[in-house]
Amino acid sequence: MLKQVAEGVLVHESEFLQSNSVVVQGRAGVLLLDPGITTGEMAALASDLRELDQPIVAGFSTHPHWDHVLWHADFGEAPRYGTARCADSLQDLLSQADWTDQVAEGLPPEYAEEIPMELLGLITGLPAGAAQIPWDGPEVRIIEHQAHAPGHAALLIDERGVLVAGDMLSDILMPFLDLEAANPIEDYLSALLLFESVADDVVAVIPGHGSVGGAEQLRARIEQDRAYVEALRDGGVSDDPRVGPSAPLDWLPDVHRWQVQGLAQREQQNGTPE
Ligand SMILES: [Zn+2]
Repeated sequence: MLKQVAEGVLVHESEFLQSNSVVVQGRAGVLLLDPGITTGEMAALASDLRELDQPIVAGFSTHPHWDHVLWHADFGEAPRYGTARCADSLQDLLSQADWTDQVAEGLPPEYAEEIPMELLGLITGLPAGAAQIPWDGPEVRIIEHQAHAPGHAALLIDERGVLVAGDMLSDILMPFLDLEAANPIEDYLSALLLFESVADDVVAVIPGHGSVGGAEQLRARIEQDRAYVEALRDGGVSDDPRVGPSAPLDWLPDVHRWQVQGLAQREQQNGTPE
């Protein structure tokens, strides 16, 4: 079930929203990034890794949304990391008595019963500003930004030229802003600049949802996402095909309208445009 994207970098794509889990080969085992969605597929991934004689030595979640912070007992007890902000945000959630209800509300009904909540979000925050994931394998650089979710980390595996983008740079989803943040538009545009600054070193970009792209795709996606966010900033009219009549998912135009409205409301409340 694993596809090789670069030497020692493998991807498993879930049926749910083309979610990508990434396996990076290290010296004594693998690093597992954004572990997966359903109980069945995580168990299958764990069994594949066992057959390859590759224990999981560390996990990492790119950001604190439910579909990136799940875990399966068969993965074992390796430390699971995230940025300090990511871990804080999850701790906040898990400290609320009704957190399972809150998460359940957001689950896709057709998969809800197959999504295990038991080990959700048990993430250890790395020290604020940590530059890389602590593990015995190729250096994985943390590119932290505040677009899409608090403490979102994209990961750059320099030696392999791979950028793991989390919920950014997708071919099937337009940018989803974090409308609860103080400066959602600015945050998004700054994150895209960060990606642009490393683009020369990237041969493959793996989005949290969607298809793996090459170097040209990376640049095209940065441009497309920037155009979309700038259109949101400038009033919301976008010719982005991901939110048009032939959107890859029929609910995306609704999310687009919701983002436009959310930003307009903020502007009214704050009295100043973003
Ligand atoms: Zn997300």
